[in-house]
Amino acid sequence: MTIRSLLIANRGEIAVRIIRAAKALGIRTVQVHSAADSDMLAVKLADEAIDIGPPSAAKSYLKIEAVIAAAKQSGVDAIHPGYGFLSENAAFAQAVEDAGMIFVGPKPEAISLLGDKVEARKVAKRAGVPTVPGSDGRVDSVEIAREIVGKIGFPVMIKAAAGGGGRGIRIAETMEDFERHFPQASAEALAAFGDGGLYIEKVITRARHVEVQILGDGENAVHCFERECSLQRRRQKVWEEAPSHLLPENVRAALCASAVALAREVNYRGAGTVEYLYDEVSGEFYFIEVNTRIQVEHPVTEMITGIDLVAEMIRIAGGEKLSVRQEDIKVHGHAIECRINAEDPSKGFLPGPGTVEKLVVPEGEGIRFDTMLYEGYTVPPFYDSLLGKLIVWAETREACLERLQNALRGLKIKGLPTTVPLHLALAGDPLVAKADFHTRFLESWLETDFPAALAALEEAA
Ligand code: ADP
Ligand code: ADP
Ligand code: MG
Repeated sequence: MTIRSLLIANRGEIAVRIIRAAKALGIRTVQVHSAADSDMLAVKLADEAIDIGPPSAAKSYLKIEAVIAAAKQSGVDAIHPGYGFLSENAAFAQAVEDAGMIFVGPKPEAISLLGDKVEARKVAKRAGVPTVPGSDGRVDSVEIAREIVGKIGFPVMIKAAAGGGGRGIRIAETMEDFERHFPQASAEALAAFGDGGLYIEKVITRARHVEVQILGDGENAVHCFERECSLQRRRQKVWEEAPSHLLPENVRAALCASAVALAREVNYRGAGTVEYLYDEVSGEFYFIEVNTRIQVEHPVTEMITGIDLVAEMIRIAGGEKLSVRQEDIKVHGHAIECRINAEDPSKGFLPGPGTVEKLVVPEGEGIRFDTMLYEGYTVPPFYDSLLGKLIVWAETREACLERLQNALRGLKIKGLPTTVPLHLALAGDPLVAKADFHTRFLESWLETDFPAALAALEEAA
């Protein structure tokens, strides 16, 4: 069935992004929103908007019945879940199908299989994809955990099987640490994800976070190369690039092939991402998880491959086969994405929602700003702090960094604090210029190098 109308079950910049793709495909759009979001950009851009409940996400964007009711009321063919919220909720995908509509994403069975990080590790192993040394399944007791830790050695990570968004992860350096953290982690995971299940992984120190974009139509699967997302704060990505700059060619090939093998193992349908840690010292890479949805950082892949990933996932959901063949997917140039959050980097990233008094968006070749902002818009305090993403492309990484610095200087958001100064400092940093980083780089750099860089920026301004 071809999709002629689409409901967007999300908010913010990704809702705007989905509407843009739908319009280009000639699809009618219906935007749901909470009471706090009636003036958001996506509501203005969509053909129709429906209020689905109070500001609290639990009572609106996360409320399956409310979203399904809106979809029935507007008579749409399909629902796009974006990222976060219900995007990786198998019960939601099932409810959409049960209501006779199309869920733009994988089958509910694939979401529940791969969304459980312990089950996903098993799938990876079956597909011959190397996983981080750790437990084979869920670890139900401290006794069993002790045995596993004895084998793999400290430090270890205690991770929630249902975790996501950088949450539900703890590091234990010693057995005392471990015995203290383990029961707490389980209680927390139960409260946060409704599932207290835990598993254990060895900590890969000085690892790079490298992930592979996949597309599948249920029969065939391809990869769209990798992204590097090593610059993280609290295990959340802050800055992403494509391709991964220092990755040896043989590692890139093996990594991408393994992601396709994993996708084939489950007859994957839709867009997805296979995440890995790459240990530069040993040259090994290890699977960590699959995200069965579009990702925040998908634009960097679009910039280097020319593929519209959101349009592709809508087409696939409508029953079409992949429109691209592996041999036709080529990397061209380099792209970097900066997440622009409503946070004050000089005040420990304190969130600061407010009203946009002035907005100037940089323009020019290779510059893209995916955003929810417009002048006069008041950012509500109820949701995550992402305001937009500045994505810059150029022929080489060096040229990309230079263009990025200019674009960041040209981006003016007045009225609320943003993370633009952080990105300006990063874009001008000599170690970042060398791509000499790993997943723990940013947090220590924020303490050692950032204060002086920030002071210099303030002086220059
Ligand atoms: P990506 O891997 O695409 O960069 P993130 O991990 O940053 O995605 O998550 C994307 C969004 O989804 C963020 O807003 C994050 O807070 C949210 N998110 C991800 N996983 C979960 C989850 N299990 N529960 C709640 N929110 C989540
Ligand atoms: P989430 O579902 O919250 O995204 P991930 O399993 O993808 O959780 O891990 C998030 C981040 O935590 C990774 O990008 C990486 O920085 C760090 N991390 C996860 N597992 C390990 C590990 N075994 N060793 C070192 N760092 C890890
Ligand atoms: Mg992850």
